[in-house]
Amino acid sequence: MIRNLLGLFGSTILLSAMAPAASAQDMIDEDARWSIAIHGGAGTINRDKITPEQDKAIRAALGSALAAGSKILKDGGSAMDAITATIIILENDPNFTAGKGAVFTWDKTNELDSSIMDGSDLSAGAAAGINGAKNPILLARAVKDKSPHVMLSGEGANQFSREQGLEQVSPDYYATPYRLDQIEKLLSKEVSAADVDYKYGTVGAVAMDSKGNMAAGTSTGGMTGKRWGRIGDSPVIGAGTYADNRSCAISATGAGEYFIRLGVAHEICARIRMRWPVAIEEAQQTVPKDEEGNYTYAIHASEFMLSDEEIQQIADDVIAELGELGGDGGIIYATPWGQAGYSFNTAGMYRGRATSEGEASVAIYGDE
Ligand code: ASP
Repeated sequence: MIRNLLGLFGSTILLSAMAPAASAQDMIDEDARWSIAIHGGAGTINRDKITPEQDKAIRAALGSALAAGSKILKDGGSAMDAITATIIILENDPNFTAGKGAVFTWDKTNELDSSIMDGSDLSAGAAAGINGAKNPILLARAVKDKSPHVMLSGEGANQFSREQGLEQVSPDYYATPYRLDQIEKLLSKEVSAADVDYKYGTVGAVAMDSKGNMAAGTSTGGMTGKRWGRIGDSPVIGAGTYADNRSCAISATGAGEYFIRLGVAHEICARIRMRWPVAIEEAQQTVPKDEEGNYTYAIHASEFMLSDEEIQQIADDVIAELGELGGDGGIIYATPWGQAGYSFNTAGMYRGRATSEGEASVAIYGDE
């Protein structure tokens, strides 16, 4: 209940007379708060680079992924299940470079990366440089749930994927004419890697479920023309993906090398977590004092949320630092207080968000 009431306020607040949270957490609570944000990549996404048909197809794809995740959350499902289902839909859609439609390596192969994290226990799984699994996010989840490890790579990860009985596809499953054309142009030096990658097509989802648990996941083909077994940020826990019930859930897209160097996903979560005691201290100072100068009551941590503005500022600060390093891209976030949003320093980002409060929107360009 605290979450529901907190949702009525837009800033850090003090609610000392609140009732404790509802105990029947296993029942579907129509009033329970949940939120989800998704992305399908960021980059130089301008109106003159996207045809009306592409615009429509991408919005439809984002819309159905968002609807699938929202339904799971609305029905009382877990954040982990919601983000997994959402990412599978985006992986199966050739408009994005995860799963079907993955970008090609320099050697004209596909090497896919994925990761997933559960904010309730900080368990995580990742797969790097893999092929074979139709849905790399399911491989990341299997690594998390069924192996003693956090990250598997290459052939070993493929073997684990088969042993786990995950659906396998032939190596040419991921190919699309569009992505083949991209790598052909790059290899024939018609365009540079920077031109080819005018946008990033990684997909990701973050969510908070009705029990307050957070989860994040990211899946990608990486960057066109990558070589030498290059791995980006997407499968790196703390860089491309992070979830922690105490702070937030993050999924990133963009120039992976910079996200790794800044540890972007963990950095944002850490800043939110560190802001927490400061917010409590600030609130404590607003409590009236008695004649002897003692506070008349002590603030309890569960009575607080960080405001929409504070969360956005923290995310924007980290993305600004990314830009200062020379990196471009963006992130989606969800918080334990129900906020779901984005921050990016590119012209656009394929994105969407939905909350129990009735928000449900998708967007492409920066000015939307
Ligand atoms: N971040 C991904 C990578 O560097 C690329 C992307 O976001 O599309 O591999």
